[in-house]
Amino acid sequence: MRVYNFSAGPAMVPEPVLKQAAEEMLDWHGYGMSVMEMSHRSPEFLQIAEEAAADLRELMRIPDDYRVLFLQGGATGQFAAIPMNLAKPTHTADYVINGIWGKKAADEAKKFIKVNIAAQADPFTYVPDQKAWRLSDKAAYIHITPNETINGVAFKAAPIETKASLVGDISSMILSESIDVSRYGVLYAGAQKNMGPAGLAIVIVRDDLLGRARKETPLVWNWSEKSVAGSMLNTPPTYSWYLAGLICKWLKAQGGIKAITEINHRKAQKLYVTIDESDFYSNNIKPDYRSIMNVVFTLAKPELDKTFTEEAGRQGLKNLGGHRSVGGLRASIYNAMPEAGVDALIKFMKEFEKKYG
Ligand code: PMP
Repeated sequence: MRVYNFSAGPAMVPEPVLKQAAEEMLDWHGYGMSVMEMSHRSPEFLQIAEEAAADLRELMRIPDDYRVLFLQGGATGQFAAIPMNLAKPTHTADYVINGIWGKKAADEAKKFIKVNIAAQADPFTYVPDQKAWRLSDKAAYIHITPNETINGVAFKAAPIETKASLVGDISSMILSESIDVSRYGVLYAGAQKNMGPAGLAIVIVRDDLLGRARKETPLVWNWSEKSVAGSMLNTPPTYSWYLAGLICKWLKAQGGIKAITEINHRKAQKLYVTIDESDFYSNNIKPDYRSIMNVVFTLAKPELDKTFTEEAGRQGLKNLGGHRSVGGLRASIYNAMPEAGVDALIKFMKEFEKKYG
């Protein structure tokens, strides 16, 4: 029996995608081997790779002057790659922090450049107003985290135009709603939430930002070198790339980003209504900044957290515990979480409240 998995990542993969991958596991399209056994240089894999990239470009409406890279090292690898590729050691970059991942990105960047914390939410329950950002004069770039996975805090819109290029960590929101790519210089994401299994990181970078990497940048972190090599300077994460391609095809069949945005808003909205209508559950994120992907909540009796996750688990609602650094509870409801899963969670929450509230 498959369960509803509310994990923040790795997370659910659409069932039709898993079935197709299973069907193609031993013999991909009559080629006599699994995709994971193929050379990344084979025409067959190149076809898989190119199609995935084309589908991603189509879904996200990525303009022609952006490269899409399929890399390893996760989003955390990019925390270091960003300063290495965009700035010299003496340069300053601005970081706007509305959650734990943005802070981690800034801390990593400090090893390579000067970091100016242009704004930091305190506590992580909102996004600092752009008017209050203290941006540097000549920032190499401005880093933001449009959706903070641990804290459940999201930007309500892309920032208004900035002088320096915007860099956005979209790990937990890629493909979940429409993003105006042209507003950013760089977007990046670990794939293991909305785009497939772990092992793949996506970087979308505008052409004019390539070629700036400091010379000691390791090859695997150098976006220009990776771009010239079609993300195949060394062995890419082939199987994750293939699954990301299947997920893009699945999403296109659902009606693309527009259709999934509507579903995602509906799923999140009903969960927030359930929380807000109850005195037993609460969510302290300022309503404008509530994430539609990661819904965090607490119980009026926090000592019941473990009972909640255990009883939910027994009903096939798994991984509802909050991140180990913040505690509480969290339902990650990415694209592949069926609406029925959210409905089942709401039903469980109401029963749990009746029993223990
Ligand atoms: N940024 C965000 C917003 C994330 O949610 C995560 C993972 N949860 C990361 C970065 C780190 O990603 P990875 O594990 O791929 O390095």
